[in-house]
Amino acid sequence: MQGQLISLLDCTLPLPRFPNNASPLNFATFQQPHHSSKLSFNVDLNHFLQKSILLSKRLRGVNCVMSSYSGYVRIVAKCGPSDGESDVRDCDNGFYIRKCVELARKAVGFTSPNPMVGCVIVKDGKIVGQGFHPKAGQPHAEVFALREAGDMAENATAYVSLEPCNHFGRTPPCTEALIKAKVKKVVVGMVDPNPLVESKGLARLRNVGIEVVVGEEEELCKSLNEAFVHRMLTGKPLLTLRYSLSVNGNFSDLLGDRVTECGGYYSRLLQEYDSVILPSSLFRGKVSIPASQEPGANQPLRIIIHKDASSSNKIPLVVNEATDKVIVFTDNETATTPELAKKGIETVILDQINLDVILDYCNRQGMCSVLLDLRGNSSEYEELVKEGIQKKNISKFVTEILPIWNRGSETDPLIPVKSLDQGIQVEKLKSKGSDQNVIIEGHFKF
Ligand SMILES: [Zn+2]
Repeated sequence: MQGQLISLLDCTLPLPRFPNNASPLNFATFQQPHHSSKLSFNVDLNHFLQKSILLSKRLRGVNCVMSSYSGYVRIVAKCGPSDGESDVRDCDNGFYIRKCVELARKAVGFTSPNPMVGCVIVKDGKIVGQGFHPKAGQPHAEVFALREAGDMAENATAYVSLEPCNHFGRTPPCTEALIKAKVKKVVVGMVDPNPLVESKGLARLRNVGIEVVVGEEEELCKSLNEAFVHRMLTGKPLLTLRYSLSVNGNFSDLLGDRVTECGGYYSRLLQEYDSVILPSSLFRGKVSIPASQEPGANQPLRIIIHKDASSSNKIPLVVNEATDKVIVFTDNETATTPELAKKGIETVILDQINLDVILDYCNRQGMCSVLLDLRGNSSEYEELVKEGIQKKNISKFVTEILPIWNRGSETDPLIPVKSLDQGIQVEKLKSKGSDQNVIIEGHFKF
C-alpha cells in the first residue's frame, strides 16, 4: 500500500509510507478507496515488524486491533473507544473477500470466457481452505477451497468473490458442493451478472437455511471481472484503446522504456487482455510480436490488421516464436504470402476490415477483453478508432504519457476522437507511474 491520507469518520491519519512494490499487483484493479470508519489492510510480516513502531506512533489516539493470518498481519484501526475483538469480526467479511480477489488474480489472463473467482473457507478465525478458478473447463474456486478444508468446512463460513454457480456447466454447481459440505454461512462479493443465473445461486443457498451475505467489497469484485461483466451485460468483449502521448499532448508511436519488461504496465496489459489488435506496419522493421513478460503469462491472441489497397504491399512476416496465437485480418487478397501459411499463421480476408467483425470473432472465441493498440502506421487503424467511438464500442482507454516533447504529426489516429463536436465524458480515472512514464486509465461515459 502506498503512503496516502485515509479519512476516517472523525479524524485523518497518515499511513506509513510503504514501498511502491507493496501496491496492488495490477493497475487495472486498483482497490477502491475505503470510505468506512474502519480500515483494515495487509502488510508483509517482515515489513510490518520494521514499520510497527512508526505505525503505533502515528495511530496514537486511534484504537488498533492486530491479528495475524498465515504470514500476514491484519490491523484494524477505529476511531473512538475500542470494543476489542468485535472490531475484527466486523471487518472480517471485507478482509476475506479481498483475500479471495487476491487468489482469483492468480489466474489473470487464463479464465475467459469465465470470470476470475477466489474462495476461502474460514473456521474459528482461521483459513482452513482456499482456492481459485484456474482456467475455463477446470473446477471452480469453491471446489478447490472445499477440497482443502475437508471436514473442517462443516459450520464454517465460505467467502467467494462471485456468486456461486447453480447450474450444470462443464462442472457441477458450486451451490450443491457448499450445501454438501454443510457450510453455515456464505459471504459473496457480487452477484453473477449473467441475467440467466443472477441471484439463483444465492436463493438456492438461502432455501436450505444457509446464511448469505452479499455485496462485500462489491466494487473491488466488479473491477476484478470488469471484462467478464461487460461481456455478460452487452454480449461483446470489453474494448480498450491504448496509446502514447508526449508530455505536450501529441500522439506518439513509441512505448516507454522498460514498460514492456516484466512488471511494466504494457507487459501486464498483454497478460490481462485476451487479444490485442496491432497494425501490420508495426512489423515492417522485423519487430517481434509483442508478448507479456510476466512469468507464466497466457499470451493474448495477436490480431494483426493489414489494410492496404496496393497489391505490392505484402503482409510482413512477423518474427516470433509464438505464432500459434497470431491471426491476420486483411482486405487485400493478394497480400498473403506462402511464408505466413508455412508458419501456421491464419489469415482472414475481408471485404472491409471493421471492428464489428473483429469483436464478433473475439466474442465467438469466448474472449472477454480486446486491446486496440495504437502503434505503427495509423492509416491501418484510424477507421477502427472512428468506428469504435461512433458505435460506442470503446469502453476504456489506457494512455501512456512519455517523458518526451515532440512535434505533432499530421497522421494523428486520435483525430476521430479529437474532432468530436461535443467531447466524451470520462470517468473512473486512475493514474500511476511506470518508470519515467505516467499511465492514465479511465472509462468513456457515452
Ligand atoms: Zn461454480
